[in-house]
Amino acid sequence: MTFNDFGLKEPINKALEKIGLEKPTQIQEKVIPLVLEKQDVMAQAKTGSGKTASFVIPILESLKANKTQKKAKIKVLVLAPTRELTLQIAQTFSNLSQYFPKALSIVSIIGGEKIGEQLLKIQKGCDVVVATSGRLLDIIGKKQIDLSTIEYFVLDEADKMLDLGFVQELDEILKIIPKNRQNLLFSATYSQKVIDIASKITTNAVRVEI
Ligand code: AMP
Repeated sequence: MTFNDFGLKEPINKALEKIGLEKPTQIQEKVIPLVLEKQDVMAQAKTGSGKTASFVIPILESLKANKTQKKAKIKVLVLAPTRELTLQIAQTFSNLSQYFPKALSIVSIIGGEKIGEQLLKIQKGCDVVVATSGRLLDIIGKKQIDLSTIEYFVLDEADKMLDLGFVQELDEILKIIPKNRQNLLFSATYSQKVIDIASKITTNAVRVEI
Protein backbone atom coordinates (compact mmCIF):
# COMPACT_ATOMS: atom_id res chain seq x y z
CA MET A 1 0.00 0.00 0.00
CA THR A 2 0.99 3.66 -0.33
CA PHE A 3 0.15 6.73 1.77
CA ASN A 4 -2.42 7.68 -0.90
CA ASP A 5 -4.56 4.73 0.20
CA PHE A 6 -5.35 6.48 3.50
CA GLY A 7 -7.17 9.22 1.60
CA LEU A 8 -5.35 11.96 3.51
CA LYS A 9 -5.84 15.64 2.80
CA GLU A 10 -3.75 17.29 0.13
CA PRO A 11 -1.36 19.27 2.39
CA ILE A 12 -0.25 16.10 4.18
CA ASN A 13 0.16 14.15 0.94
CA LYS A 14 2.25 16.99 -0.42
CA ALA A 15 4.44 17.02 2.70
CA LEU A 16 4.92 13.23 2.55
CA GLU A 17 6.00 13.59 -1.05
CA LYS A 18 8.39 16.44 -0.23
CA ILE A 19 9.97 14.46 2.62
CA GLY A 20 10.21 11.44 0.33
CA LEU A 21 7.93 9.04 2.23
CA GLU A 22 5.96 6.78 -0.13
CA LYS A 23 5.14 3.52 1.55
CA PRO A 24 3.87 3.37 5.12
CA THR A 25 5.90 1.22 7.49
CA GLN A 26 4.20 -1.72 9.23
CA ILE A 27 3.37 0.29 12.34
CA GLN A 28 2.00 3.15 10.24
CA GLU A 29 -0.21 0.76 8.24
CA LYS A 30 -1.79 -0.45 11.46
CA VAL A 31 -1.86 2.67 13.63
CA ILE A 32 -2.93 5.37 11.16
CA PRO A 33 -6.40 3.90 10.38
CA LEU A 34 -7.08 3.24 14.08
CA VAL A 35 -6.28 6.82 15.05
CA LEU A 36 -8.43 8.12 12.20
CA GLU A 37 -11.27 5.96 13.56
CA LYS A 38 -10.82 7.70 16.93
CA GLN A 39 -9.61 4.59 18.74
CA ASP A 40 -7.25 4.68 21.68
CA VAL A 41 -4.12 2.75 20.73
CA MET A 42 -1.39 1.01 22.66
CA ALA A 43 1.42 0.13 20.28
CA GLN A 44 4.59 -1.80 20.69
CA ALA A 45 7.12 -0.09 18.45
CA LYS A 46 10.79 0.69 18.57
CA THR A 47 12.64 3.76 17.38
CA GLY A 48 13.29 3.33 13.67
CA SER A 49 9.90 1.72 13.02
CA GLY A 50 8.36 4.99 11.87
CA LYS A 51 6.31 5.26 15.06
CA THR A 52 6.50 9.06 15.21
CA ALA A 53 4.80 9.56 11.83
CA SER A 54 2.28 6.85 12.78
CA PHE A 55 0.72 9.24 15.29
CA VAL A 56 1.68 12.60 13.77
CA ILE A 57 0.02 11.89 10.39
CA PRO A 58 -3.47 10.92 11.65
CA ILE A 59 -3.49 13.58 14.37
CA LEU A 60 -2.68 16.26 11.80
CA GLU A 61 -5.32 14.80 9.48
CA SER A 62 -7.97 14.99 12.21
CA LEU A 63 -7.12 18.40 13.68
CA LYS A 64 -9.83 20.87 12.92
CA ALA A 65 -8.74 24.24 11.72
CA ASN A 66 -10.15 27.04 13.82
CA LYS A 67 -10.53 29.86 11.40
CA THR A 68 -12.46 32.14 13.69
CA GLN A 69 -10.24 31.86 16.73
CA LYS A 70 -7.52 34.48 17.04
CA LYS A 71 -5.37 32.56 19.49
CA ALA A 72 -4.66 28.87 19.00
CA LYS A 73 -5.67 26.47 21.76
CA ILE A 74 -3.61 23.44 22.71
CA LYS A 75 -5.26 20.38 21.17
CA VAL A 76 -2.37 17.94 21.19
CA LEU A 77 -0.09 17.04 24.08
CA VAL A 78 2.78 14.63 23.50
CA LEU A 79 4.98 13.52 26.39
CA ALA A 80 8.38 11.99 25.72
CA PRO A 81 11.17 10.91 28.07
CA THR A 82 14.06 12.90 26.61
CA ARG A 83 14.82 16.32 25.16
CA GLU A 84 16.16 14.77 21.94
CA LEU A 85 13.04 12.75 21.31
CA THR A 86 10.84 15.75 22.15
CA LEU A 87 12.61 17.89 19.57
CA GLN A 88 12.40 15.13 16.94
CA ILE A 89 8.66 14.72 17.46
CA ALA A 90 8.09 18.49 17.25
CA GLN A 91 10.14 18.54 14.03
CA THR A 92 7.99 15.76 12.55
CA PHE A 93 4.81 17.74 13.36
CA SER A 94 6.34 20.76 11.72
CA ASN A 95 7.60 18.90 8.60
CA LEU A 96 4.31 17.15 8.00
CA SER A 97 2.19 20.29 8.48
CA GLN A 98 4.38 22.54 6.35
CA TYR A 99 1.75 22.92 3.62
CA PHE A 100 -1.19 23.63 5.91
CA PRO A 101 -3.01 26.79 4.77
CA LYS A 102 -2.72 28.18 8.29
CA ALA A 103 0.61 27.34 9.91
CA LEU A 104 0.35 25.35 13.12
CA SER A 105 2.15 26.53 16.18
CA ILE A 106 4.16 23.67 17.67
CA VAL A 107 6.03 24.24 20.92
CA SER A 108 8.68 22.06 22.56
CA ILE A 109 8.81 22.28 26.33
CA ILE A 110 12.08 20.85 27.56
CA GLY A 111 14.43 21.32 30.47
CA GLY A 112 17.89 22.78 30.07
CA GLU A 113 16.67 25.68 27.97
CA LYS A 114 15.43 29.08 29.14
CA ILE A 115 11.87 28.81 30.37
CA GLY A 116 11.03 32.39 29.33
CA GLU A 117 11.02 31.71 25.62
CA GLN A 118 8.85 28.65 26.06
CA LEU A 119 6.39 30.65 28.19
CA LEU A 120 6.23 33.37 25.56
CA LYS A 121 5.38 30.87 22.82
CA ILE A 122 2.67 29.31 24.99
CA GLN A 123 1.19 32.73 25.77
CA LYS A 124 0.98 33.56 22.06
CA GLY A 125 -1.15 30.44 21.57
CA CYS A 126 -0.16 27.06 20.22
CA ASP A 127 -1.82 24.00 18.71
CA VAL A 128 0.64 21.27 19.63
CA VAL A 129 2.81 20.89 22.74
CA VAL A 130 5.56 18.30 22.85
CA ALA A 131 7.09 18.10 26.30
CA THR A 132 9.21 16.34 28.84
CA SER A 133 7.24 15.97 32.04
CA GLY A 134 9.50 17.89 34.46
CA ARG A 135 9.53 21.17 32.57
CA LEU A 136 5.84 20.86 31.72
CA LEU A 137 5.06 20.54 35.43
CA ASP A 138 7.19 23.64 36.18
CA ILE A 139 5.06 25.57 33.72
CA ILE A 140 1.83 24.07 35.05
CA GLY A 141 2.96 25.11 38.55
CA LYS A 142 3.36 28.68 37.34
CA LYS A 143 -0.22 28.55 36.01
CA GLN A 144 1.09 29.55 32.62
CA ILE A 145 -0.51 26.89 30.47
CA ASP A 146 -4.11 25.89 29.75
CA LEU A 147 -4.37 22.17 29.05
CA SER A 148 -8.17 22.07 29.33
CA THR A 149 -8.60 21.97 25.54
CA ILE A 150 -6.47 18.85 24.92
CA GLU A 151 -8.09 16.41 22.47
CA TYR A 152 -5.14 14.08 21.80
CA PHE A 153 -2.70 12.76 24.38
CA VAL A 154 0.35 10.78 23.27
CA LEU A 155 2.79 9.04 25.57
CA ASP A 156 5.89 8.06 23.62
CA GLU A 157 8.46 5.53 24.86
CA ALA A 158 6.33 4.72 27.89
CA ASP A 159 8.80 2.06 29.05
CA LYS A 160 11.60 4.61 29.11
CA MET A 161 9.43 7.07 31.02
CA LEU A 162 8.92 4.40 33.66
CA ASP A 163 12.64 3.49 33.76
CA LEU A 164 13.49 7.14 34.31
CA GLY A 165 11.02 7.36 37.19
CA PHE A 166 8.48 9.69 35.63
CA VAL A 167 5.38 7.89 36.92
CA GLN A 168 4.53 10.45 39.57
CA GLU A 169 5.04 13.32 37.15
CA LEU A 170 2.83 11.58 34.64
CA ASP A 171 0.12 11.15 37.29
CA GLU A 172 0.25 14.87 38.05
CA ILE A 173 -0.23 15.72 34.39
CA LEU A 174 -3.04 13.20 33.92
CA LYS A 175 -4.92 14.89 36.77
CA ILE A 176 -5.25 18.15 34.90
CA ILE A 177 -5.93 17.15 31.31
CA PRO A 178 -9.51 16.52 30.15
CA LYS A 179 -10.82 12.99 30.70
CA ASN A 180 -12.52 12.99 27.34
CA ARG A 181 -9.63 12.71 24.90
CA GLN A 182 -8.03 10.26 22.48
CA ASN A 183 -4.96 8.47 23.86
CA LEU A 184 -2.04 6.89 22.07
CA LEU A 185 0.69 5.06 23.91
CA PHE A 186 3.91 3.74 22.42
CA SER A 187 6.44 1.50 24.07
CA ALA A 188 9.34 -0.56 22.75
CA THR A 189 8.70 -3.21 25.40
CA TYR A 190 5.67 -4.32 27.38
CA SER A 191 6.06 -5.02 31.06
CA GLN A 192 3.28 -5.27 33.62
CA LYS A 193 4.14 -1.71 34.65
CA VAL A 194 3.67 -0.43 31.11
CA ILE A 195 0.33 -2.24 30.88
CA ASP A 196 -0.72 -0.70 34.22
CA ILE A 197 0.13 2.78 32.96
CA ALA A 198 -1.67 2.10 29.69
CA SER A 199 -4.81 1.05 31.51
CA LYS A 200 -4.66 4.26 33.54
CA ILE A 201 -4.32 6.42 30.44
CA THR A 202 -6.28 4.71 27.68
CA THR A 203 -9.88 3.57 27.25
CA ASN A 204 -10.58 0.33 25.35
CA ALA A 205 -7.25 0.70 23.59
CA VAL A 206 -6.55 -1.42 20.56
CA ARG A 207 -3.25 -3.17 21.03
CA VAL A 208 -0.89 -3.12 18.07
CA GLU A 209 2.23 -5.23 17.79
CA ILE A 210 4.53 -5.60 14.82
P1 AMP B 1 10.89 6.82 14.16
O1 AMP B 1 10.74 5.34 14.34
O2 AMP B 1 9.61 7.54 14.27
O3 AMP B 1 11.95 7.38 15.06
O4 AMP B 1 11.37 7.06 12.64
C1 AMP B 1 12.60 6.61 12.18
C2 AMP B 1 12.95 7.19 10.80
O5 AMP B 1 12.16 6.59 9.81
C3 AMP B 1 12.77 8.67 10.67
O6 AMP B 1 13.96 9.22 10.17
C4 AMP B 1 11.66 8.84 9.65
O7 AMP B 1 11.83 9.95 8.83
C5 AMP B 1 11.74 7.56 8.86
N1 AMP B 1 10.44 7.15 8.34
C6 AMP B 1 9.23 7.27 8.95
N2 AMP B 1 8.25 6.76 8.19
C7 AMP B 1 8.83 6.30 7.07
C8 AMP B 1 8.33 5.66 5.88
N3 AMP B 1 7.03 5.41 5.74
N4 AMP B 1 9.21 5.34 4.92
C9 AMP B 1 10.53 5.58 5.09
N5 AMP B 1 11.07 6.18 6.17
C10 AMP B 1 10.24 6.54 7.15
